[in-house]
Amino acid sequence: MKNLFTKRQYDNLNRYLQSAKNVTIIIHTNPDGDAIGSSVALSYILEQLHIKSNVIVSNDFPEFLRWIEGSDKIIVYAKNRHEARTAIKNADVIFCLDFNSLARIEILEKIVRETTAPRILIDHHIEPADDFDLKFSYYPISSTSELVYRIGTKLLGTKLLPENIAEALFCGMMTDSGAFSHSSSYSDFFRIIANLLDCGIKKDKITHLVYDNFTESRMKLLGYALSKMTVLHEYRAAYITLSQDDLKRFNFQIGDTEGFVNYPLSIKGIVLSLLLVEKDDHIKMSIRSQGNFDVNEMARRHFYGGGHFNAAGGKMLCKYKDCEDELKKIIKDYEEKLFNA
Ligand code: 5GP
Ligand code: MN
Repeated sequence: MKNLFTKRQYDNLNRYLQSAKNVTIIIHTNPDGDAIGSSVALSYILEQLHIKSNVIVSNDFPEFLRWIEGSDKIIVYAKNRHEARTAIKNADVIFCLDFNSLARIEILEKIVRETTAPRILIDHHIEPADDFDLKFSYYPISSTSELVYRIGTKLLGTKLLPENIAEALFCGMMTDSGAFSHSSSYSDFFRIIANLLDCGIKKDKITHLVYDNFTESRMKLLGYALSKMTVLHEYRAAYITLSQDDLKRFNFQIGDTEGFVNYPLSIKGIVLSLLLVEKDDHIKMSIRSQGNFDVNEMARRHFYGGGHFNAAGGKMLCKYKDCEDELKKIIKDYEEKLFNA
């Protein structure tokens, strides 16, 4: 298997871990399968090295990830502020997983910046910020979970992990690769999946738990979202907007709109898809593309966000009623790039 990181990086990691007693692992706001899977796995790996750790996140995670063993121990700042704050303050090392800039942990950023603990990044997003003391950052890879597998098995000196930990990592690799449809066209990816199968993971069970675990109202919200989708064939783009009223009507639960943004890309000729969801003080955006159209650049330039080349996120700060007009103007500016994608 190809080595992604240098001996020097591992030496530095070991040096930090040698003196670590209380480690905090932080994952990004609106955590997904990769964030949850990689963090509980890293926590297990640290435990094997006799290092106590906890996982902190700013807001709650979706129901379809609750089966992940150890996810119930994650400290959610929105539900348990004091515990989250104390854990971060007491940490002697802070791991930052599945995000590339402290801005991505929102409310927790300030608390982290007030500590002096070294920050170790493990992540697969493009262009990490200068917020970290040691970086394990590699973007041409499926997921942070895959990085944690590679780093963790090296630290432990074994390819085999307990089944529940292997399942958490498999969940991250599966969800971040869109169930193996992108970001996974290299043989080491499947070598690692093979190793996880050797650990005893129940692949079909996990697929079922993640993808067949929706409520009836979420499916109806999806139907409604698709029915109001706007397709701009002339720009090879499509978008869906959902207001707070729309969400209320379908009894929205956290995680319900996950995956919606992928559907418009199934339309022949469409290379750019955007999902706009009204929040209290902004409009949350998910952006996906196919082929040679860079949505990381688009999100950074126009939507205070970022992500990957073909999958990014961000926000709009205009009023919900104005968001379509704003968006259309921006899409128009990309006409040539969309045409050539
Ligand atoms: P999603 O659309 O699934 O929320 O996110 C897609 C990708 O973009 C993920 O890799 C996620 O980490 C990244 N992303 C989502 N929202 C933001 C954001 O507000 N800022 C940045 N920098 N990245 C984001
Ligand atoms: Mn990820």
